[in-house]
Amino acid sequence: MKNNVLNLGLRKQVDDCKPYIAGETEAAVLKKYGLNEVVKLGSNENPFGPYDNAKKAMQESINLLNRYPEDDYVDLTATLAEINNLSVTNIALGSGAGNVIETVARLLLDEGDEVMVAKPTYRLYREVSILMGATIKDIPVNSDFTYDLCAMRQQITNKTKLIWLCNPNNPTGVISDKNELEEFIATVGENVWIVLDEAYADFINDGQRPEITELLQDKKLIVIRTFSKFYGMAGARVGYIMAQAPVIKAFDTITEPFCVNRVGLFAARATLLNDQDQAAKIKDFLLKERTRVSESLTAKGFLVIPSSSNFIFAKLPNNLDSTEICEQLMAKGVIIRECNAWGYPEYVRITVGKKEENDFLLNKLEEII
Ligand SMILES: *Cc1c(COP(=O)(O)O)cnc(C)c1O
Repeated sequence: MKNNVLNLGLRKQVDDCKPYIAGETEAAVLKKYGLNEVVKLGSNENPFGPYDNAKKAMQESINLLNRYPEDDYVDLTATLAEINNLSVTNIALGSGAGNVIETVARLLLDEGDEVMVAKPTYRLYREVSILMGATIKDIPVNSDFTYDLCAMRQQITNKTKLIWLCNPNNPTGVISDKNELEEFIATVGENVWIVLDEAYADFINDGQRPEITELLQDKKLIVIRTFSKFYGMAGARVGYIMAQAPVIKAFDTITEPFCVNRVGLFAARATLLNDQDQAAKIKDFLLKERTRVSESLTAKGFLVIPSSSNFIFAKLPNNLDSTEICEQLMAKGVIIRECNAWGYPEYVRITVGKKEENDFLLNKLEEII
């Protein structure tokens, strides 16, 4: 889709960018279909957040909103450093992972650089890279939806600047084997940057999550995390990166000052320090629900791809079309994500919600499939 911006005098790369497709909101769907109940399972949010201590801290932060945040976000940065076994010089914050992804692209990419992305993966990597003038190499995933790390390695050229990795991957929920991923990061060519987006890493089962602390010491590696999903704070907009100190310094130099707000800063720190028990219980619950929903979908004829996250990627039965089914569900008050835009017109992505939300989805599916 060309935006025809050239005659407005905008940058030519803007013309090649596609708008981010956000999930539908509850309010919009309520209004559009005149419903009185809508269940939102389309954006991988955590329906149980924010947790108790995060909420308390948010309320306290309100009294300080006449002031800018500290420009080095010192308290949250120190807490993150401690939890991740790193120094404060290895951490930089942004207003959500989306914001840090964009800043990372501005930090690394030049006109003519090549970047690699898996196909399918989170779409924002592509758009921010194109905006910087980079060209995209899509590397299709394997038939089991794992990353084809061999193909990625083989396709590296002297123009390859950056490989975007997402683990667990969005929209599939699939993880790379821990050892294979660590080995890939450790041995990929010296001139190639790796950005590892761990937006959902806290949902990975124990023992299957890559150990990145050591790799961060001597590799061209940037790891991205967010409070949006596991900690249920998508509306508070806090994300961060971990990298070597000079990278962090450069990142902080070019990022927008004060882009993380006080409400998010207070809440993120409080939730890290004091909400871990609650977060762990909710994680267990969501993973049990993921199994229950997956089994129900399988019984209805879906092909469910085993997930390591808080969402399920599944192939519809009987060659049904993703966009059509999602439209029909929406008219009945259920928002899930169609996967046409990722090139998977027979697949849907479903966020695991509260028990009653998942039941609502399964009941509505029963009515149309
Ligand atoms: C949701 C998501 C993000 C963006 O998270 P925010 O912190 O809310 O901006 C980034 N990467 C992936 C893979 C995501 O699914």
